[in-house]
Amino acid sequence: MRWQNRRKSDNVVNRRGDNGGSGGGLASGGLIFLAIRFIFSRFGIGGILILVVAFFALQAVGVDPLRLLMGGAPQTAQVGSGTSQSNVNLCVEGDQTDQFVCVVLASTEDVWNAEFRKRGQTYEEPKLNLFSGGVQAGACGYATSAVGPFYCPATREVYLDTGFFKELSQRFGASGDFAQAYVIAHEVGHHIQTITGVSEQVHQAKLQARSSARAQARQNELQVMMELQADCLAGVWAYHENNMFTLEPGDLEEALTAANAIGDDTLQRQAGRTPMPDSFTHGTSEQRKRWFRTGFDSGQMEDCDTFNAAQL
Ligand SMILES: [Zn+2]
Repeated sequence: MRWQNRRKSDNVVNRRGDNGGSGGGLASGGLIFLAIRFIFSRFGIGGILILVVAFFALQAVGVDPLRLLMGGAPQTAQVGSGTSQSNVNLCVEGDQTDQFVCVVLASTEDVWNAEFRKRGQTYEEPKLNLFSGGVQAGACGYATSAVGPFYCPATREVYLDTGFFKELSQRFGASGDFAQAYVIAHEVGHHIQTITGVSEQVHQAKLQARSSARAQARQNELQVMMELQADCLAGVWAYHENNMFTLEPGDLEEALTAANAIGDDTLQRQAGRTPMPDSFTHGTSEQRKRWFRTGFDSGQMEDCDTFNAAQL
């Protein structure tokens, strides 16, 4: 993707160093507990006594021993503040990956502002929170990086730990900048579903499905339709990105490889299980690739109606 020297989004929020409060606190507490247990097992009660004496000796000379242990890390982070803990602007001072994220988000803003305007509507740009380790995502709760990039409908914001890109290339075999761009565009796709009311309709349909005999299967099916629509919207974005700044050779393949790698059937097979369609919540690799392609081929968001498609 040709991204150097392009506009960067104003909507990237630096949430690094903000471990989401509760998560960070638990980690610190657990560490101290483990350290004490270790000292006790090695040096017995005498070791603990020396530790206690040292603790108070340090405090007496005005040093906070806990702070020292944590390497001077902040003791408390504001929980659910939703604000940045750092005033470092990652779009200016961040590494290449951070700056790339800023350009991709800006590109999605340009595309969706124009597409909504064409339809007589206004696009509400989402914030994208860059975090590392864990993050407090408002009403969506505390999330660790293990869940991967996500969109929280309650805050209407995207959350991304760029460490995921390493996993994407190493574990899922999807490398290249356009694989990363696809991931961001997919999350922005969920934002579009929220502001257009699709997410709420799906939520209601899921509630109704609760009483049906195959409730879980139907709910999963609805979730798959959501995910495939987000893939298709990512494809629509890629179509317009290609119009504005011609894609580089291999870009499209990078996105398709990523869509292929994170299909439910592939993930389940990698985990050593036989793929079970009823438990799919993101769609198969073939479906994800096909819906991204659908959006990419036409550039029309109307072609992304996975809910009424003859073939999902
Ligand atoms: Zn998704």
